[in-house]
Amino acid sequence: MAWREGEKVFKDPVHGYIYVHDPLIWDLINTREMQRLRRIRQLGTAYLTYPGGEHSRFSHALGVYEVLRQMLSHFARNGYDWPHQYDRLVTVSGLLHDIGHAPFSHALEPIFGAHHERWSQRIILDPHTEVHRVLAQVSEDFPRQVAEVLAKRHPSRLVVSMVSGQLDADRLDYLMRDSLFTGVDYGQFDLARILRILVPWKDRLVVKRSGLHTVEAYLLARYFMYWQVYFHPVCRAAEIGLKKVLLRAQDLSRASAPPEVPHPALRRLLAMEPLSVADYLELDDFVVLTAVANWRHHPDPILSDLARRLLDRRLLKYREYPSGDPYRLRDIEATIAEAGFDPRYYCEVDESGTVYYDYYLGEESADDEEGALFLWDPEEGRLTEMSRLSQPIRAIARERQVERRLYLPEEVLESPQWGARIRSLTAAGGLRAPGFLSSVEDDEADG
Ligand code: ZN
Repeated sequence: MAWREGEKVFKDPVHGYIYVHDPLIWDLINTREMQRLRRIRQLGTAYLTYPGGEHSRFSHALGVYEVLRQMLSHFARNGYDWPHQYDRLVTVSGLLHDIGHAPFSHALEPIFGAHHERWSQRIILDPHTEVHRVLAQVSEDFPRQVAEVLAKRHPSRLVVSMVSGQLDADRLDYLMRDSLFTGVDYGQFDLARILRILVPWKDRLVVKRSGLHTVEAYLLARYFMYWQVYFHPVCRAAEIGLKKVLLRAQDLSRASAPPEVPHPALRRLLAMEPLSVADYLELDDFVVLTAVANWRHHPDPILSDLARRLLDRRLLKYREYPSGDPYRLRDIEATIAEAGFDPRYYCEVDESGTVYYDYYLGEESADDEEGALFLWDPEEGRLTEMSRLSQPIRAIARERQVERRLYLPEEVLESPQWGARIRSLTAAGGLRAPGFLSSVEDDEADG
């Protein structure tokens, strides 16, 4: 679509409206590579747990752009010291930050053999992509500058931290968006106020001291979203289900009995041949799901069974497995094999855990710590690391909570013959999982 005078707007459930004033942004939105993101769900397989979680990475990319656009207009309105030559670089980098995302969110990254950030850079630097051609119209060097921001290697630390940092536009948008679409309300926070309390200060993004509670609420929202959505045991089960189907397809491909794969790029991926940028851009959720739907009727009994389990949402069940003892795991796998299931495809130990606010509290002179948030006192003109002033932040800072779970077929867990053995092998006592929110009803999220 050609640019006409004036502005373009998108209606958006998170931000109300997304405003496009710059023809460059409009041209980028209309590239083939950006449009591909409409066919990748932001939350991968989480829609099998939270039926509302169907939103696309395209809507998130527009949202990140909009958050950055609002940050810049807030800086300008307040007369903050901000290097205006970076205006375009910031909004463009935000829009394109997920351009290299694999189908199904992070679930398939290991299969692609590289992180999506690396693919983003390859796509932006490849002279054959539409995104590259649009960026190169700004200047010959502009694609490289954008790739540097995404690789966190750009000389302006401020620019990098606005796109990826503790309070970056990426997190601000995805937390609000994922929370809204899943219906997990306590992932919401006061985004409008966060945008008002951010200040560019000496090449870093800091927070006005009066915004302390707003940031506390944001960090707690992040904590809740991790445990209620990103690490939800049934969301993990769906992701494991998808990985297992593709693992079987990959094994069959390598054993010179390749399953029928309608799509050439997916065929190359499963055969573990290196992918070109053009191949990679052919892949999206639809291509992967079409292959899985075809495999429902495949003569290989394991492949067809795994495909059916995913499509019909008969996911692996889980038991808490706090010890993670490898000797016990051997016995568990032997039990699953005795019950007639190949543990390579029907058993998985999954670990979830993250640090919500990554900052080492003990250092006095830790002003340069990457993962830290700083409060800025305009009167005293000095910075204080946030956890020093906030008890809730201290409580979650640097805490690494890990949940370990064993996934296996319901048939094994519920069988009188094998179930009791599995229960005794996974029992540990002492450790309890946090209560998980059910998306539908109690027994649903439970199992
Ligand atoms: Zn993102």
